[in-house]
Amino acid sequence: MSKHKITVAYGDGIGPEIMEATLSILKAAEAPLEYEEIKIGKEVYLQGISSGIPDEAWESLKRNKVFLKAPITTPQGGGYKSLNVTIRKKLSLYANVRPVQAYVPYIASHFPTMNLVVVRENEEDLYAGIEHQQTSEVIQCLKLVSKQGSEKIIRYAFEYARQYGRKKVTAMTKDNIMKRTDGAFHKIFNDIALEYPEIVADHYIIDIGAAMLAARPDKFDVIVTLNLYGDIISDITAQVAGSVGLGGSFNIGNDFAMFEAIHGSAPDIAGKDIANPSGLLNGACMMLLHLGISDKAALIQNALLRTLEDGIHTGDIANDEFTVKRVGTQEFAQEIIKRLGQNPTKIPDVKYNEHIKPIRIQDPVIPRSDKKLIGVDVFIEWAEEGRNPEKLGKMIDDINVDGITLRVLSNKGVKVYPGIAEPIKYSDHWRCRFLHNDSSSTKDTTEIDPHDVARIMMAMIDRGFDVIKTENLYTFDGEIGFSLSQGE
Ligand code: NAD
Repeated sequence: MSKHKITVAYGDGIGPEIMEATLSILKAAEAPLEYEEIKIGKEVYLQGISSGIPDEAWESLKRNKVFLKAPITTPQGGGYKSLNVTIRKKLSLYANVRPVQAYVPYIASHFPTMNLVVVRENEEDLYAGIEHQQTSEVIQCLKLVSKQGSEKIIRYAFEYARQYGRKKVTAMTKDNIMKRTDGAFHKIFNDIALEYPEIVADHYIIDIGAAMLAARPDKFDVIVTLNLYGDIISDITAQVAGSVGLGGSFNIGNDFAMFEAIHGSAPDIAGKDIANPSGLLNGACMMLLHLGISDKAALIQNALLRTLEDGIHTGDIANDEFTVKRVGTQEFAQEIIKRLGQNPTKIPDVKYNEHIKPIRIQDPVIPRSDKKLIGVDVFIEWAEEGRNPEKLGKMIDDINVDGITLRVLSNKGVKVYPGIAEPIKYSDHWRCRFLHNDSSSTKDTTEIDPHDVARIMMAMIDRGFDVIKTENLYTFDGEIGFSLSQGE
């Protein structure tokens, strides 16, 4: 069998110990792999490379395309960038996949049958990190969600479910509030679900979804969600399963894939030969599946389960009831190696379809829309004594640029003018919505000239207002593409 060359990084803290243990098991299992080591992480940060990853390491990653990575210590402060975020973005690793399973009774969990997978969008949402302080009081973080990105991750989740024989895919969003961004994700989910009639599809609002995950994780199978929610719920699920130290995960794109443990570099126990290597080992088994070497993945995972079942435990999972022998990192690896070829007898054994292939989702082509500019939101900082919306409205009311006038003033997303102002405590951040007099704010009527947007902004500046930003208002195929204020 030809060998797959992979890139390996030993990482920081417990990284070298758990990587050594993992590689010894891969080698003993005769996994057809060749290893190319790169140096990344703390040592590289301290050489002054703020990304933590030197050029030659990128070369190796680009050549080999498959990366097994031990955890890295991100030094605090000093402008160091998160290596994980850099790698994800540079290699377009759009999906983070984290299977989580309970191993009761050997590892305590209230949910013995829990066995689920969180598929998290990895490149978009609030993680673009585009933040601006706009007024003395208000700071903004942009949440960017693309239809391509959403379609890709959702399709990945359904393909994953199909490939691994899972029965249900659950989407989690907050589309009751974010009707445009999360709403688009939910709609795309509903559309794609129709292409997979054999898989049950459902949706939870993220808050109740997260609560359900903590209370009844055994009800879920595959979960697909946006970046921030996925970040949070993947940690909740790992914790609830009781297997933070055992979980592996991977970040995957169409060309590259990175496999790792879910835990960090555990500097508190580094160098003591007590860390549990199972998380990285499970990550490595996911890598074997990705490479189409499913027989070796099952061989190793079954030996690991058998070792746990035989009561051979590292300190983090040792317990009075089931531990027969407490071992260190390398001895644990040797015990797994001794059990290669054996299956667990009480925990269900692992079986994979031998036809498992890497899941490749083509970049979706989103049809161009008929887009029309129909107005503009002009945001201003205004903190005049009393912050009276009626007064502010009267200062702007007479602006008229080719029939485009003030339609509504809002503060914290609530309409405060015209009409009776809502009893809210006003911030210094105001939105002044301008639309053509002939337009209703909910229907595609009058298109405006883009120069008028600049003229409105100039009119506001001429009146002495501190314009902090503008946001164009469009319709797409006749449907408005912006949210309305509460009460608008
Ligand atoms: P951590 O996951 O490293 O440790 C949390 C706790 O779990 C510690 O008590 C640790 O001893 C224990 N633990 C973790 N892995 C273990 C294992 N395999 N066996 C036994 N016990 C284990 O989280 P942290 O302390 O918040 O972070 C430490 C460092 O790791 C930080 O610099 C952080 O930035 C980094 N980190 C890296 C990654 C990564 O590279 N993917 C992920 C998370 C955190």
